[in-house]
Amino acid sequence: MTSNHSNAESPVSGSHADGTGCVPGTLYVVATPIGNLGDISARALDVLRSVALVAAEDTRHSQRLFSHYDIRCDCIPYHEHSEEKTAQRVINVLLGGDNVALISDAGTPLISDPGFRLIQQVQDRKLVVSPVPGASALIAALSVSGLATDSFMFAGFLPAKSSARKKRLESFAVYPHTLIFYEAPHRILSSLQDMAAVLGVTRTAVIARELTKRFETVRKGLLGDLVEWVAADSNQQRGELVVLLEGARREPGKDELQRILLTLLDELPLKQAVRLAANISGVKKNEVYALALTLADS
Ligand code: SAM
Repeated sequence: MTSNHSNAESPVSGSHADGTGCVPGTLYVVATPIGNLGDISARALDVLRSVALVAAEDTRHSQRLFSHYDIRCDCIPYHEHSEEKTAQRVINVLLGGDNVALISDAGTPLISDPGFRLIQQVQDRKLVVSPVPGASALIAALSVSGLATDSFMFAGFLPAKSSARKKRLESFAVYPHTLIFYEAPHRILSSLQDMAAVLGVTRTAVIARELTKRFETVRKGLLGDLVEWVAADSNQQRGELVVLLEGARREPGKDELQRILLTLLDELPLKQAVRLAANISGVKKNEVYALALTLADS
């Protein structure tokens, strides 16, 4: 679905005419802070103050934000158990021409948070869904990780059971992009242990804990070292955590290995060229040797 709405001038001017004379409302997906209450945009505050209804993951939790910014709004819960009922109410309000905001307990709604079904249902009615962007723990963590940011994969929470978790990690083993996981404090140690067991103790990792809060900690190191560090300090097993892993180092493809070998073979005896090509590429010596023999033959 494409939406053709202009909201450049006003924080809540996203509604569109649908050709029937009715002007349906807009569902704003509003990001809220992940800790520090200062991390909310001026537009998010304007939207929360002006919409007819706020659907919140946990209305009691959001009260802290509302009181801090003196936001008085009609607020209903939107979580797994109230999904259907809330969705119907939201859609009715939108169809009536009023705007609604969706928020979660922290960060960007739908990012490991409820809202997916609601967005689909609103889109199915050809109503407008518009983002009010802001904090998300995964992006905050990635931005300070010092790991590659050009290409990454967010994998949410890993399974709680070690066997399923290891299986999931195995599926990421050769993935060359930065991996990002959310993790619960009571599972951080066993998760890191499984990561080290499956992906190797020498894989670089970052633990980003309690971002934007009092005990904010960002620690980068080899997985093996981080396991020991977390095991030795129970404070590191508290609060909210993001774990980031460096992507798998890429082994050169056959073409690249062949290019390296041919360059070396031009200058060096076969054995020496094979040894150097294996060192450079990380490919096993006997495999490089076999390729070198084929190249020498041809
Ligand atoms: N919607 C949120 C977002 O945009 O980041 C994520 C919600 S998810 C249910 C909660 C998880 O996000 C936590 O268990 C933790 O892994 C991560 N998280 C949230 N706030 C964080 C913070 N301040 N520091 C580190 N991780 C955080």
